[in-house]
Amino acid sequence: MSVTHDYHVHSNYSDGTVLRQMVAAAADAGLAGVGIADHCNVSAREWLMREKREYGMNLDQTYPLRRDGIEGLSEQFDLRIFDAVELDYAPRDEDDIAVFLDEVDFDYAIGSVHRVDGTNVQSSTPFTGMSERERRAFVDDYYERLVDLVESELFAIAAHVDLVERTPELRGYTTADHHAMVTDAFRRSRTVPEINAGRVLRGYGEYHPAPDFRAALRERGVEFVTGSDSHEPDEIPNRKAAFEEFFAERESEPIRLFD
Ligand SMILES: [Zn+2]
Ligand SMILES: [Zn+2]
Repeated sequence: MSVTHDYHVHSNYSDGTVLRQMVAAAADAGLAGVGIADHCNVSAREWLMREKREYGMNLDQTYPLRRDGIEGLSEQFDLRIFDAVELDYAPRDEDDIAVFLDEVDFDYAIGSVHRVDGTNVQSSTPFTGMSERERRAFVDDYYERLVDLVESELFAIAAHVDLVERTPELRGYTTADHHAMVTDAFRRSRTVPEINAGRVLRGYGEYHPAPDFRAALRERGVEFVTGSDSHEPDEIPNRKAAFEEFFAERESEPIRLFD
């Protein structure tokens, strides 16, 4: 059994199901370790502060409560529960992120580029009216931010590195040059990419990163941790099974952190 850890699971401390149910599902699935990595944004920008309060993404305020919950659950379930975070990354927020991570001292942080200059990568709406050229420019900008994230050395893990491929309007704009620049950045950094199963069993139907991107990374010695990006309990065993199959087919194993 090669897949013993899942480093990317959400709970009701952001947009997932109740913490206790997520941990119970991870234990039932036979995992030895689960990382509760709730969404968090610590930008001082006014509109982002307003938005996160509207969506109830308040881990920057609620992490002490979640920490107590994780401590209690660690005594009741036979697996390691990591007190982790999925932080929105933008270059201009680097100082705020560094101060926050220093102060809070999570077990580890996952960094994510969910937005580029305020535009949500995962929503089709901003891109339907764009020309091909504009879409290409947006995807270029996305990968530049991702390289900035990896180079910032703020994070143990970089999430869903080709997230733009999830969005139909942006799919297919990722190039071999993007693969190469991101691979170079990982080779120079402590940050490792995850293989993300958030859309492998629905919608997009593929892992992040996509096969040719994975090949480019692995060719140059960059390995992956597993992150199911589960938001509901059932997703944890289902995506674990998908990962088992994935790694068995390739006769390889994911890497493990913090052992
Ligand atoms: Zn994410
Ligand atoms: Zn996530």
